[in-house]
Order: sequence, then structure tokens, then C-alpha cells
Amino acid sequence: MRLPALHEGDFQGKRVFVRVDYNVPLQDGVIQDDRRIRASLPTLNHLLSQGASLVLASHLGRPKGQPDPKYSLAPVATHLSALLSRPVRLVSDWASPIPLRPGEVLLLENLRFHAGETQNDPEFARLLSQWADVYVCDAFGSVHRAHASVEALPKLFPHRYAGLLLMAEWENAQRVLSNVIHPYLLIVGGAKVADKLPILQNLLDKIDRLLIGGGMSYTFLKAQGLPIGKSLCEDEHIEAARAILTTLQKRGKKFLLPLDSVVAPHFAEDATARVFPHLPNQFPEEYMGLDIGPQTIASAKTFIQGAKTILWNGPMGVFEWKTFQTGTLRIAQFVAEETQAGAYSLIGGGDTASAIEMLGLSDKVSFVSTGGGALLELLGGQTLPGIAALLS
Ligand code: AMP
Repeated sequence: MRLPALHEGDFQGKRVFVRVDYNVPLQDGVIQDDRRIRASLPTLNHLLSQGASLVLASHLGRPKGQPDPKYSLAPVATHLSALLSRPVRLVSDWASPIPLRPGEVLLLENLRFHAGETQNDPEFARLLSQWADVYVCDAFGSVHRAHASVEALPKLFPHRYAGLLLMAEWENAQRVLSNVIHPYLLIVGGAKVADKLPILQNLLDKIDRLLIGGGMSYTFLKAQGLPIGKSLCEDEHIEAARAILTTLQKRGKKFLLPLDSVVAPHFAEDATARVFPHLPNQFPEEYMGLDIGPQTIASAKTFIQGAKTILWNGPMGVFEWKTFQTGTLRIAQFVAEETQAGAYSLIGGGDTASAIEMLGLSDKVSFVSTGGGALLELLGGQTLPGIAALLS
């Protein structure tokens, strides 16, 4: 499948609708992290250099289908204006379009101020379509949702394209989905087994090695009959976890689960941490694992070595708390080292990306995805509505 690329379009004098993902964290109207805004700049600058005018649209947070000043895109318009060095006008009333001159930039107020957005309402999409001649989607973080601006709207335009960010996300995802260079190592972590099961099941045939850490790993350890104390465990997924490990074993593929954990008696930032191995009679009942332990880190180092393709999604522990972030940070270092030694590495998920960024390693890995749910669904083998709409 080949997405329609931006360089195939003619944007001279055109009004271009760009669906961006400006769903940034805000606190008291101040943007806490502008990565998503900066990630859209290459596409916007490309279109402006071609003589287009821009109508930008995004959602922000979860307003309930009606205007809510808390979720206004006003701070984004101000920040974007500074980044682009040109005015960005925020448009709140967009029942009828405004004439635009080449180089002008509008930002439509939060799409989710209208119920039609999440309802994928055709009439809402028709209203939006009046604003532009061409459609560009650059909102990778939103393409897994069948909402009006990503699903119904593009189909109303004869010319529609993937923006540079969306294209980069798509092409990098393809590198871990098809024509993969082996050995292929998958590293998964984070809290919820259910979120990661589709990826594991979809990639099981393709990968050569699997490293599981984080809260989800304890369900796998329990499936193996090993002690996990009070650690997170999703009993309803034990069977699925066991099936995955059995399949890997049958196919002669290697996997690494935590050999030991950094544990605490309760889930708290200031809890006293100790280390125990996941061995019968050695892991105390009253403790919970909150990070992978030193023995696991040492084994992970050799486990990662020699991989030629690495996909990593999800932290190895409660990475938000200093006491329990060593595992995630060490894995980030190993992945960066292996990338420097010639491996291709794709990093996905907010926490994993933060770990890489914290260590200043973002340019030492091959690609850091901006998509959370969208990446999980894509890697889980699902068809994403916003991608399908560009192709249809
Ligand atoms: P996810 O969204 O499923 O990728 O999970 C990310 C979250 O998992 C982060 O907020 C981590 O703090 C949390 N997490 C990672 N390891 C553990 C653990 N051992 N116990 C509880 N939570 C964890």
C-alpha cells in the first residue's frame, strides 16, 4: 500500500485543509510539551513554500461536543504563530468560510466543540470541506479514530495527501511490519497486557526474540508458574500469555522475562525499594515488582546485542518515579547503542519516547513515533480509518 505523498500535489494558490494533531498537554492555558506542534512544521512549511494558504484543524482533550474554554486551541495558535513567524488566526465560528490569500494560516477552534466530529457526521464533514480545495492528513495520533475530520472529510476531496509526519510514521511502521531485517527483537512493557496482546499476536511469526518488562510481564511470569507477589497481574490474560510463550518455544525463538524485580511493599513513589529474584520461595508474597532488576538488565544487554531490527513499546517499570526508572533508562541506552552499531530501531508510546528523550538519545535511535493508540493499532494489524480514507 502506498500513501499519496505530499510532493505529488500541486498546492500553488490552493486552500489546503491540514488535519494536524495539536492535542498537547495544557496546564492553566500553558503548553507543557510542544512536540506535536513542532512535528507538524515540515508539512506546513512545505505547503506554504508552494504558495498555499492553510486551514489547520485539530482536537484538544475531551470536551463534550460543545465549546469549553478549558480546551480552546488559543494557546496553540499563539505558539504556532511564533514557530512559523507569521500570524495564525483562530477561527471559532466556521459556518461559512473566509476568503484566504496565499501564505495565510487559519486554525479552526477545537473540532470536538462539535458533536459531529466524534460522530463522524457527514453534514459536519461537508461544512468543513467548504474551507479548502485540497486535503492533507498529518495527524498520525488521530488516524485510528473514525472521526469526521479524518474519515468522512477526506473522502469529499478529489485530491488528498499524507503529510510528511504521517508518511514518516507510516514508512517506519512498515519497516517493522514487512520485509524486516533479521534478527528482529520486540521489546514490550507498560502496565496493560490487553493493550499489547494484538501486537504480540500480530508479530509473533515475524520476530526472532521477545523481551517483556513492566507491569505486563508479571502476567507472563505467573503463566510460567513463577512467583510475583502483589505485582500487577491480569488473570484473564494468563492463558493468552501462556499461548504466546509456548508458540515462541515451539518455534525455537528466544524470550526474556524479568529474572528479578525492584520491588516495594506498596505502590508509592517514596516506598523503600528492594530486589528479589522471581524464583520459587524467594519472591515475598507481600511485595510488588515496580521495575526490572539488575540481573534482568544484565541479561537484557546481551539479549539486545546483535539485533538488526528493534521495536520497543512500553516502559520496563514505573518510569515516572526515580526509584523505579533505572530499568527503562538502561534499556533505552542498550537500544541506542545497538542502533549505533547498525540496527534499525523504532520507539513507540509516550513513556518510551520520554525515556529516550530524557537521556538525550532521540537522535541515536532510528525513529521515535508520535503516535500512541494509532501505532499500537497499526502494529496490531488493524486498518486505520484515517489511512483507509486517504487510500480509497
Ligand atoms: P502502558 O500505557 O500500558 O504502556 O503503561 C504505561 C504505564 O505502566 C506507566 O505509567 C508505568 O508507570 C506503568 N508501569 C510500568 N511498570 C509497572 C509496574 N511494574 N507496576 C505498575 N505499573 C507499571
